[in-house]
Amino acid sequence: MQHIIDRFISYVIIDTESDPNSETTPSTQKQWVLANKLVEELKAIGMQDVTIDDKSYIMATLPSNVDYDVPTIGFISHFDTSPDFCGANVKPQIIRDYDGKDIVLNAAKNIILSPNYFKDLLQYKGQTLITTDGTTLLGADDKAGITEIVTAMEFLINTPEIKHGKIRVGFTPDEEIGRGAHHFDVEKFGADWAYTMDGSQVGELEYENFNAAGAKITFKGKSVHPGYAKGKMINSMLIANDFMNQLPSGETPEETKGYEGFFHVHHLTGSIEETVLELIIRDHNKKKFEKRKKLIEKIARKINKKFAKQFGEDIVITEVKDQYYNMKEKVLPVKHIVDIAEKAMKELDIKPLIKPIRGGTDGSQLSYKGLPCPNIFAGGHNFHGKYEYVPAESMQKAVEVIVKIAELTALEESAKK
Ligand SMILES: [Zn+2]
Repeated sequence: MQHIIDRFISYVIIDTESDPNSETTPSTQKQWVLANKLVEELKAIGMQDVTIDDKSYIMATLPSNVDYDVPTIGFISHFDTSPDFCGANVKPQIIRDYDGKDIVLNAAKNIILSPNYFKDLLQYKGQTLITTDGTTLLGADDKAGITEIVTAMEFLINTPEIKHGKIRVGFTPDEEIGRGAHHFDVEKFGADWAYTMDGSQVGELEYENFNAAGAKITFKGKSVHPGYAKGKMINSMLIANDFMNQLPSGETPEETKGYEGFFHVHHLTGSIEETVLELIIRDHNKKKFEKRKKLIEKIARKINKKFAKQFGEDIVITEVKDQYYNMKEKVLPVKHIVDIAEKAMKELDIKPLIKPIRGGTDGSQLSYKGLPCPNIFAGGHNFHGKYEYVPAESMQKAVEVIVKIAELTALEESAKK
């Protein structure tokens, strides 16, 4: 266990925060520091074909150790951390034999990680927790995933009696700013399918995510002196308000769960002459997703009609752009890749928690690029903030799941012989 803790800590103390305002890949130069370290480490444990491209995407191979054909499988995680919270000077704390009580992350600032608020903590009584010092995020998202993949590969290399096919490993930058899959060379990776190790608690297995679109809606107006405005002024802010009122009530992120979709207004700036409203549209169901996008256009048309005479041209201009799609469509035809992961967990006495993701993963984009890619737990909790923590035992379980999936994939092929 100490080995996995040491490895994890050696990654999280390196700042790899990504930056959505940067145009380069990786978005921040500092991501190279960990990327280069990972390349050396993959070589050192005995991985083959270790490559890093000019955008810092890392790939490596563990060759097959059987004499029959087995599908090539991949394991993927990202080495950047979220720009939502400070990722520099991470000082991890190790809580051994956790007693189920409050954990003082930072006495000076009175920052407490408490099971009264974070109830999940109680499942980890007696385990070894790795936490922050209350001033940064931890970066278990997704350096836990990297730790697990490297450790699993090392274990397989040192344990040749476990039989497996060819395994590919992929580490990416910039997942947290939605670009991790953008420059991922699926052809070069050359796997039949893969798993992102980027979920949260032990047992998570996900192959359904949202269909996602973003909309920018511009409302025009006419500014006239308020004293002489009767019949002349058009206040774009009030039109935007009218638009928002026509969105279905109760369908916001704060009022939905599970498979329920939503509209989420996340930005609004305005003056009398012009108001810009930005919202995102999310739905697991493709038909409902398309319907939601049509509703945006329908409301806009209705308002445009109302102001056609007075304004002379369209007063509402909509731009709706698709962002990503539900990977379920790409994974269901190859459902056995989920079944193998589920079987692996069950054989390890881990209860699979299969649920739809209310968001997207790199795996959803990769699935549409031709690499079906469900998501598996990496073990951490409370991502993107100071309360982030990961139990070492959960990382160890993820290592075992990776090893077991590799083993089962080879075993199922040999059974076909
Ligand atoms: Zn992540």
